[in-house]
Amino acid sequence: MLSNLATRDVETLIHPYTNLAAFRQTGPLVLERGHGVWVYDTDGRPYLEGMAGLWCTALGYSNEELVEAAREQMARLPFTHLFSGRSHDPAIELAETLKELAPIQVSKVFFTSSGSEANDTQVKLTWYLNNALGRPQKKKIIGRHKGYHGVTVASASLTGLTANHADWDLPLPGFLHAACPHHYRGAEAGESEEAYSARLAAELEEMILREGPETVAAFIAEPVMGAGGAIVPPRGYFAAIEPVLARYDVRLIADEVICGFGRLGTWFGSETMGMRPHSLSFAKALTSAYMPLGGVTVDEPLYQAMQDQSRKIGTFGHGTTYSGHPVASAVALKTIEIYRRDRIIEGAAEKAPQFQRRLSALEEHPLVGEAKGLGLIGGLEIVADKATKRQYDPKAGVAARCVAFAQEEGLIVRFLTGDRVAVCPPLVIRPDEIDTLFDRLGTALDRTQ
Ligand code: PLP
Repeated sequence: MLSNLATRDVETLIHPYTNLAAFRQTGPLVLERGHGVWVYDTDGRPYLEGMAGLWCTALGYSNEELVEAAREQMARLPFTHLFSGRSHDPAIELAETLKELAPIQVSKVFFTSSGSEANDTQVKLTWYLNNALGRPQKKKIIGRHKGYHGVTVASASLTGLTANHADWDLPLPGFLHAACPHHYRGAEAGESEEAYSARLAAELEEMILREGPETVAAFIAEPVMGAGGAIVPPRGYFAAIEPVLARYDVRLIADEVICGFGRLGTWFGSETMGMRPHSLSFAKALTSAYMPLGGVTVDEPLYQAMQDQSRKIGTFGHGTTYSGHPVASAVALKTIEIYRRDRIIEGAAEKAPQFQRRLSALEEHPLVGEAKGLGLIGGLEIVADKATKRQYDPKAGVAARCVAFAQEEGLIVRFLTGDRVAVCPPLVIRPDEIDTLFDRLGTALDRTQ
């Protein structure tokens, strides 16, 4: 029997990434408030938010400094835009701060309101650059199977998940997907992580040669894959593929939407993974999700090309009303100030060994084939047979059941395709709360058997 609010929800809302047919029976989990790493439903029941919302509430809930930063900016100047040369101090200061923090050379920053728009912008800038450089045939972009980059027409084309393509008439032509770098599933028997990385790099090179290097413009990758399964690439993966990309003048875009701002214990996931991208996409933890804000970094060659195009066309024809929204920018500045002042990212690195130890201990569980992560993110895979890695029939929804049991135990985690369960708590989680998280996840797994 659904509550009054739940019934009203079912009758009125369309929920993203939800089985709209099954949902009519189960109804929503309606949350009302949050404190620290805890969220509370309308009956006052607490849940440990083991997913930081959607991989984003890095500073947890009820952070009064962020609330105050938003209030102050709302009272002073709630809105102005960046179109036609208009500007405001929070966006200027934030762009300066991001240039300082980025682990790569950055000429300028372009703001969006979400990760999808950031990656959509990456696609458009890739095309724009190659038109500006007089090589309009060099436009193809390679993502990876199970990579997640968003839901706009272009960013969903970069994404390598069936649900984002099936019956959406996507991906668009010119979007390719290389193999998912998942050693547990993709490696051959006895193949080391390094050998697997070398093989994936060779396969990528074959793909580029098959397509024609003069047609391939960019490659996009999350440092650690999030929505596709919380998958850590094998050792040596980026070191193996980067020379291939460089050989054919293919730009590397790091999708830092989840890994950016401390998730792996460094400011950007690229640093942890030793990636040297040309550009970063970011969003989520930039504001600890207190306001929607994303963006991309632009290097000097790209910026020069953009400027040349403006001379020719008369304007840079891209941007949305809320690009660099002042309130969102003010909240981002405060978020970064807190990350720095309270050593939040160093703290995440310090807590990572405990988090990873508790996660990998779950591999002893009869249902768990793999339990692996990095920093404060991890994924585990539920299998029917650990020896053969055989999976349950996807229709059985075993990971979904495990996540439902976790919720009953007062823990929010997320199931992903391939019977994977993701864990990605706020960076401010305390060591005793990490223990609570994994104790409850263990109980949920026991109940799933
Ligand atoms: N890129 C990555 C790596 C993501 O995880 C996500 C969202 O989860 C996106 C892009 C899309 O971001 P948004 O949902 O803000 O559009």
